[in-house]
Amino acid sequence: MRITRLTAAAGALVLAMTAAACGGDDSGSGGEKKNFPAGSTMQKLNDAKKLRVGTKFDQPGFGLKGLSGKPEGFDVEIAKMIAKQLGIAEGNIEYTETPSTVREQVLQQDKVDIVVATYTINDKRKEVIDFAGPYYIAGQAIMVKKDDTSITGPDSFKDGTKKVCSVTNSTPATNIEKYLKDKAKQLVLFDIYQKCVDALKGGQVDAVTTDNVILTGFIATNKDQFKLAGSTFTEEPYGIGVKKGDKDFRNFINDTLEASFKDGSYTKAWKDTAGKYDPNDPKIPTVDRY
Ligand code: GLU
Repeated sequence: MRITRLTAAAGALVLAMTAAACGGDDSGSGGEKKNFPAGSTMQKLNDAKKLRVGTKFDQPGFGLKGLSGKPEGFDVEIAKMIAKQLGIAEGNIEYTETPSTVREQVLQQDKVDIVVATYTINDKRKEVIDFAGPYYIAGQAIMVKKDDTSITGPDSFKDGTKKVCSVTNSTPATNIEKYLKDKAKQLVLFDIYQKCVDALKGGQVDAVTTDNVILTGFIATNKDQFKLAGSTFTEEPYGIGVKKGDKDFRNFINDTLEASFKDGSYTKAWKDTAGKYDPNDPKIPTVDRY
């Protein structure tokens, strides 16, 4: 009897130690062993205990790498939610800086598992990758120096005198073209938005155009230097890029998003990040399970 009780106690202790070693509560180094369909991306990632995430490193509120050495922002929080559902500890997320122009490429070349990077869902991109989401609806806008009164919206570029900066292979770079008289002279393109912000500061360009929420982050972190000129003039639904054809993984991410919309973790993630620069809670979008 005594031996049996001792054995049971020892067994319980071993179980507890095993759970701790595996980080069953997700606070340890590894993560949590989960059972997903055999052969699924979810199972492979859970087995590997690692999630490779492509995101931005220069966009305040969405993905900004600061002193902590890890990017921070709303996109990063979305990636963390997905990692958690996969049973992967936060510390096991591997972030890769992913400027707009390489987003499809890094997925096609299997350099990352997901891209969460202020990434507009559109048909052209869907030819080579797939999107879960949307998880947020942004809109294109224009940022100018605070004392500028000459630019009031995209129509202000039509006379051909003003220069505007955006990022290569971004939707705003394409959308602004129809408002320009002389594209070669007026449109300046860089790989990341921070370079556009520097060009605006230095007077090499008159404006920066991209999504409102990206610009809001730059306005808030460059005190009293910039403002928005006019309001948004496009819709930019943000999706999570995944490899083309992986419908199960896409569904899994969509389930994760929908659960976060319901349990409040989505709104909390927003408030802790981009919401610091934007007083309005985001309108909860409807995911598109195409
Ligand atoms: N959402 C737009 C896009 O996907 C602009 C933001 C960005 O370049 O990351 O192209």
